[in-house]
Amino acid sequence: MIHLILFGPPGAGKGTQAQSLVDYFKFMHISTGDLLRGEIAAKTELGLEAKRFIDAGELVPDETVIGMIKNLLDRICTVPGVIYDGFPRTVAQAIALDTMLTSCKEGITALLSLEVPHDELVKRLLLRGESSGRTDDADVATIENRITVYGQKTQPLIDYYTKLKKYHPIEGVGSVEEISARLISKVKSL
Ligand code: AMP
Repeated sequence: MIHLILFGPPGAGKGTQAQSLVDYFKFMHISTGDLLRGEIAAKTELGLEAKRFIDAGELVPDETVIGMIKNLLDRICTVPGVIYDGFPRTVAQAIALDTMLTSCKEGITALLSLEVPHDELVKRLLLRGESSGRTDDADVATIENRITVYGQKTQPLIDYYTKLKKYHPIEGVGSVEEISARLISKVKSL
């Protein structure tokens, strides 16, 4: 079975490209950001707790996100393919995911990393904030904090998956279709 991590800084296009890959390969799509926004909309205790971190541009605590993935493990272990979008975001989450997948004799196939320059990220996020109403895309300070947090806590995953020979950089600038085509051809070559 195939387990792909779609990786990159905020604004790299993970959500859009995850959808392209899902449409093409019919894999299961797991976006921890979408799951958290669902909890917020449903006003659950988890959602209210998570909102404070999200609005500040910080990461939600590892145990919360890992718990959400654990709840999906029965499906993760039985479908033909999964695309992880926005997860893992810390080394602790990556280790937890490896352990969960090992428990059903599965493992990560590849990490596809969308590479986009810093200024382009800020531009895209501000534009998205205007149309989506996402509170964490609304101002430059929160956006910059998310990019800083990405550098400190999430970027170390590149080393982690490079050592496992699973890191694949993908040029993340161009039209949505061009980037989808690069990703699809990479997945087919794996
Ligand atoms: P996203 O939709 O992936 O950009 O996620 C939006 C926000 O949700 C992030 O800025 C984090 O605050 C939170 N979040 C999403 N996924 C994770 C994760 N794997 N670990 C920690 N926080 C997360």
